[in-house]
Amino acid sequence: MRHPLVIANWKMHGSGAFNQALVEAFLSLLGKHRAECVLCPPFVYLGQLKDLLRSSDVVLGAQDCSHIAQGAYTGEVSAQMLSDCGCQWVIVGHSERRQYHQESDALVAAKLSMAQRAGLSPVLCVGETQEQREAGEAQGVVKSQLLGALGDLPDLQGLAIAYEPVWAIGTGLTASPEQAQDMHAFIRGVVSDLDEKNGPALRLLYGGSVKAENAAELFAQADIDGALVGGASLDAQAFAAIVSAA
Ligand code: PEP
Repeated sequence: MRHPLVIANWKMHGSGAFNQALVEAFLSLLGKHRAECVLCPPFVYLGQLKDLLRSSDVVLGAQDCSHIAQGAYTGEVSAQMLSDCGCQWVIVGHSERRQYHQESDALVAAKLSMAQRAGLSPVLCVGETQEQREAGEAQGVVKSQLLGALGDLPDLQGLAIAYEPVWAIGTGLTASPEQAQDMHAFIRGVVSDLDEKNGPALRLLYGGSVKAENAAELFAQADIDGALVGGASLDAQAFAAIVSAA
């Protein structure tokens, strides 16, 4: 039985006052829930969220980490530093990082390895663009992202994978539950071939315009174990409803 997992990716949103109001409202609305829940604010707010989450079972994650352990890399934040700040999770290979920061699969692989060495659980993001889907290349693209990022890891224990079709991120377009399930089943096959022991048990999250209204339908699919949520995670009521649905 895979434990449901819901991760909030705040992206570059928030302020001290906004974060406090959002987290307090979210915690007060969050009733009994089965899902493990993770909030990933911008780096500079990790300390603030650590304090706000102290007496809850919601845990802390980051949106990225460096591919290097330490050194003269201005602006970078290492996986070990994130762990030091109380993070348990880190998002790696988000499509916005791949697109705006030219992150390659090799770089993503190095970040994953740093995250594992620091004892963080990484969530690896993969997904195809609209053009790639229309050209019938969606599975090929996702497989090559998975093999490029995971191929050299000794094992996949503790990892989660988020399938995020690029055309569904922040656009209001959501993959249909069937489209998402098909890709999740495909991903499960690829990771099970890579690691027979841990692959079948990996948690596979769907991401791309998940809302309170479509979450339950997505979570009802056999290979969808939760969600990575962008926009809706900035709304306490919507995010609490998504976590409860998982
Ligand atoms: C994301 O950024 O990971 C994401 C899924 O965003 P949204 O939910 O806004 O589509």
